[in-house]
Amino acid sequence: MPETILITGGAGFIGSNLVHRWHRNHPQDRIQVLDKLTYAADPKQIEGLDRVELVVGDIQNLELARHLIDKNGVTKVFHLAAESHVDRSITGPAEFIQTNLGGTFAMLEAARQVWAGQQDCRFLHISTDEVYGSLGDTGKFHETMAYAPNSPYSASKAGSDHLVRAYHHTYGLNVVTTNCSNNYGPRQHPEKLIPLAITRMAKGEPIPIYGDGLNVRDWLYVEDHCAALETVMLKGVAGETYCVGGDNEQTNLALIDLLCDLVDQHLGRPQGTSRKLKTFVQDRAGHDRRYAIDATKIQAELGWKAGSGFREGVSQTVAWYLKP
Ligand code: NAD
Repeated sequence: MPETILITGGAGFIGSNLVHRWHRNHPQDRIQVLDKLTYAADPKQIEGLDRVELVVGDIQNLELARHLIDKNGVTKVFHLAAESHVDRSITGPAEFIQTNLGGTFAMLEAARQVWAGQQDCRFLHISTDEVYGSLGDTGKFHETMAYAPNSPYSASKAGSDHLVRAYHHTYGLNVVTTNCSNNYGPRQHPEKLIPLAITRMAKGEPIPIYGDGLNVRDWLYVEDHCAALETVMLKGVAGETYCVGGDNEQTNLALIDLLCDLVDQHLGRPQGTSRKLKTFVQDRAGHDRRYAIDATKIQAELGWKAGSGFREGVSQTVAWYLKP
């Protein structure tokens, strides 16, 4: 049966990749994108796709959200719209609280009012592993771990996760939440580490590295994340949360070195050229040291697994940002 799905934040990095994936895999469905088109959006990434409609609007607008879900008979909501950059949350936290907490509230409330208990309609909330705080040298984040967010960004996402949980527990809304590790891949805003580093390497400009560069992240190719979101939407259990990660821990320094080598190779430069651009800068305030995900639950219960090799994924990413 053809359905209409709503993707909030569908003009952003992960959202636009998800729009392309759902469009490819579900040729009968209509896709409605609700996006405010902040600085982080690039609507050109989803232009020209039939059955995809972009509505420019704010997720905090409950009336608009209710109208869209009701008018179009939306049965599935992927909720990705958010303020997403940790550094910006440190210098200007207000927007993060309004969008991530207030916006998630409005989207949940709209779904609750329109769906009125229909269990075949589902709300998938896309969240981050940063809600769990920072790890020491060992251990991994998992679904039953206590929340310990450290930045205004992660605190606002943690609050939104709790709202989602409460809407299931109190109202019986069919919700699922995913907490994913750092994504990389095409269509990301150039302020984020990987696109920033690639474009600076290409221009021969200094590549800033926070602190000692030994902060660890568990990098996942964005297409693998989108595959996980599709799997959870179709097969996840209502009220459950799923941690999503690539089992791919890398220090920032190791990641930058790999990018340097791949950019040099791509541009036909002598190896070592880009590595000379590495510049250590003062660490981010409250910088979490290590994130790592235990993805056993989504693998064992829903059969999802990250499919992309790290070097291959990063190589494709370099090629995408450097294409003429
Ligand atoms: P992004 O910043 O690239 O995109 C966010 C999108 O949301 C943009 O298109 C923006 O215009 C839109 N938006 C922002 N405020 C809005 C508002 N008030 N109303 C409507 N639209 C608004 O972010 P992303 O990296 O694609 O992340 C998407 C989601 O995934 C976020 O919820 C984020 O917390 C989560 N997440 C991201 C990562 C990652 O590594 N990027 C990892 C795990 C989870």
